[in-house]
Amino acid sequence: QSKPQARVDGSTGVSFNDVAGIEEAVEELQELVRYLKNPDLFDKLNIKPPHGVLLEGPPGCGKTLVAKAIAGEAGVPFYQMAGSEFVEVLVGVGSARIRDLFKRAKVNKPSVIFIDEIDALATRREGIFSGGTTSQYNAATQERETTLNQLLIELDGFDTGKGVIFLGATNRMDLLDPALLRPGRFDRKVRIRPPGAKGRLAILKVHAGKVKMNASVDLTSYAQNLPGWTGAKLAQLLQEAALVAVRKGHQSILQSDMDDAVDRLTVGPKRVGIGLG
Ligand code: ATP
Repeated sequence: QSKPQARVDGSTGVSFNDVAGIEEAVEELQELVRYLKNPDLFDKLNIKPPHGVLLEGPPGCGKTLVAKAIAGEAGVPFYQMAGSEFVEVLVGVGSARIRDLFKRAKVNKPSVIFIDEIDALATRREGIFSGGTTSQYNAATQERETTLNQLLIELDGFDTGKGVIFLGATNRMDLLDPALLRPGRFDRKVRIRPPGAKGRLAILKVHAGKVKMNASVDLTSYAQNLPGWTGAKLAQLLQEAALVAVRKGHQSILQSDMDDAVDRLTVGPKRVGIGLG
């Protein structure tokens, strides 16, 4: 039986300094870090510990990044799996993986469990049929329900796992099985919004710090002129600009390299250079 295990990261090395443009969400998530750093304190003060948090928002806006930052800030291990890794034809495999994941995280608590694309394993019934025979459909439904039930069992029994935070991420809230959203499972939903111009500038600045950017480059103009670009796309822009600079033998990234990179990453009609007007 193939058995993908959670990717464990003893120290993600990611901090809130690496996350930009989603300050509200970060502010809300700080409490999780405080909890992970000292779970016993919540106990002593009789504060209800945080349970599960659902990160919701469009792709590429920092859900995985912020989840890693929570673990990184608290200095605790991070157990990451994708929802699709629990979807198996063989009955019982998905639920065994869930059990295994929570067991490992509890042994090494305090810790963070992160399931990306949680909608893949917790889709409401009508959302999963994508063709095939009735018996295939029934088998897939049954397996999905067994897996989801196991997740609900783990979440409901979280008291024994004090010190473990469960984070799920989705960009398809509408597909989630309502059972997962009942109180006591995900006790909080945090929206990770696409960045506006201010957010895009903050993100560009974070990533510009990781490459050699010429001081003359006007990042503000890119932030203002690239509406709809996500954090992932902006990170890619700076990587691409760095490659262009290397190719042209520049010592640092120039405005013209940035313009070139924007062109390369822009689908559709060729854009006029933003920086040089
Ligand atoms: P998906 O739903 O596709 O998994 P996601 O919301 O989890 O997307 P991430 O995987 O966190 O997005 O983002 C990919 C990369 O894009 C990050 O590793 C980071 O380099 C960059 N990035 C995205 N959002 C931000 C942000 N808010 N601040 C800084 N960098 C960001």
